Amino acid sequence: MNEIKLRDLIKSIDLNAAGTQMYQLVSDLYPICRSITGDGVRETLNKIKTIISLEVKEVPSGTQVFDWEVPKEWNIEDAWVKNSKGDKIIDFKKSNLHVLNYSVPIRKKVNLNELKEHLYTIPAHADWIPYRTSYYQENWGFCISHNQFAELKDESYDVLIDSSLTDGSLTFGEFYRKGASSDEVLISTHICHPSLCNDNLSGIALSAILGGHLSKVSLKYSYRFLFIPGTIGSITWLSLNKKSASKIKHGLVVACVGDPGNFTYKKTRIGSAEIDKIVTYALKNSAKDFNVIDFFPYGYDEGQYGCPGFNLPLGCLMRTPHGEYPEYHTSADNLEFVKPENLSTSLALYLDVLNTLEENKKYMNQNPMCEPQLGRRGLYQHIGGHADSKKFQLALLWTLNLSDGGNSLLDISERSGLDFSLISEAADILIEKDLLTEHKTQN
Ligand SMILES: [Zn+2]
Repeated sequence: MNEIKLRDLIKSIDLNAAGTQMYQLVSDLYPICRSITGDGVRETLNKIKTIISLEVKEVPSGTQVFDWEVPKEWNIEDAWVKNSKGDKIIDFKKSNLHVLNYSVPIRKKVNLNELKEHLYTIPAHADWIPYRTSYYQENWGFCISHNQFAELKDESYDVLIDSSLTDGSLTFGEFYRKGASSDEVLISTHICHPSLCNDNLSGIALSAILGGHLSKVSLKYSYRFLFIPGTIGSITWLSLNKKSASKIKHGLVVACVGDPGNFTYKKTRIGSAEIDKIVTYALKNSAKDFNVIDFFPYGYDEGQYGCPGFNLPLGCLMRTPHGEYPEYHTSADNLEFVKPENLSTSLALYLDVLNTLEENKKYMNQNPMCEPQLGRRGLYQHIGGHADSKKFQLALLWTLNLSDGGNSLLDISERSGLDFSLISEAADILIEKDLLTEHKTQN
């Protein structure tokens, strides 16, 4: 068993290098045409396998998952529209966003009016290609810039979509890292978007690198990472893991972590879960502007994890929320929009949150009848040797006083106004001097 603690590993992480590594992964995955099923998902998961020991799972089409059914598998080879001269004016090979995701196969001649019924644009951003899907209604279509749409001539067009929609499976990836406790922390990210960087490649890259770091340390909790298609993926996973889902005690949905915006934390359905308190504390400590917003039952997979039947404590920690940046679901959510330094500050925040979660234990004072004699136990030596001896002495007194089994170290930090790291350090010394023991609550 590896004895390095997460807090020690964090001190040694080169965040600039981690930012570059995550950005490289985003760049490598960017060209792949992903969807909620299909070979693009498999190719993406195989790439992640080079970083963490991911288990890839396949669930057959038609499998009943609660009120839903695993859909047919979609794959695509090529797609284009040619004008009457035979020139390709729309080409899937140039951008996979050009095809309405999950388009059924088609090969036909159409006039301009019929073609227009199958074209999608964004008039407000006339240069950008929109990202559109039609998973649960069979349709075909192309997405193009509004400028190109405006210039289309009244002529005959040749349309090809060389796709397949057949019985196959839904593919997802799972990475499990065992800790001392069977209680789990779930980290979930969606993997179903094609060439879009912030939503969802930033979440994939951060989760993979975070998982890699957690592989190197000894942990209190067990960690489960899910790389799943949005909505149908979490519904499928929950349906397959109805019983074991109760092991999940904390969790985060990772999305939109590479844009330049401030952090936004969407709270769990519970609203006052430990993860809500820890993320809020970490954001306050970051000395940057941030938003904490309440739970709502749509968005990413937090809505499925937070359904009344499961009510799992998963919040969503992002930078700018989906839909609140103009580049969202367009070709402008590209390799210029996401930056290595944004990815690295997001990773640092996630590491800080998980470190606090790992260390946020409850203790029992072993000498509760009035204050123990600190001098006799050699504690003044520790106080005197501390960079801020006055504060450290206070941290010892607060930690002793409030360690009655009811307060976590974060509760003590908040009530005392002293940093969590200082309270945690005080607890370590008090354990060493047999003045505290961990108070384990029954689940
Ligand atoms: Zn999206």
